[in-house]
Amino acid sequence: MHELAIVEGILGTVIPEAEKHQVKKILNINMRIGELSGVVESCMQEYFSIASAGTIAEGSKLILKPSPIKINCPDCGYDGTIKKGQYACPECGSFRFKILSGREYYIESIEAE
Ligand SMILES: [Zn+2]
Repeated sequence: MHELAIVEGILGTVIPEAEKHQVKKILNINMRIGELSGVVESCMQEYFSIASAGTIAEGSKLILKPSPIKINCPDCGYDGTIKKGQYACPECGSFRFKILSGREYYIESIEAE
């Protein structure tokens, strides 16, 4: 039910904001989803269409773009991305790296008319 809470959070942010700007209809909501956030895209889409029904966001598209996992390795100084499922520094193999981003999810932009 993690995704339902996220979807409600998105609509709770987007709809009042759109109404403030006299938007008639929300077309697209672009979101960044960190690869470590655990958000399941198909669940998001499903909950989104249910939760947006009857609102100005009804029929709009939720576009989810993955946001890469970024780390910083204190052993070799590597500062960059790693792939999901990779749990060691790609430069030196250290497991002591710090995750800088990849757990977050946020609204990047909204297209409306
Ligand atoms: Zn390293």
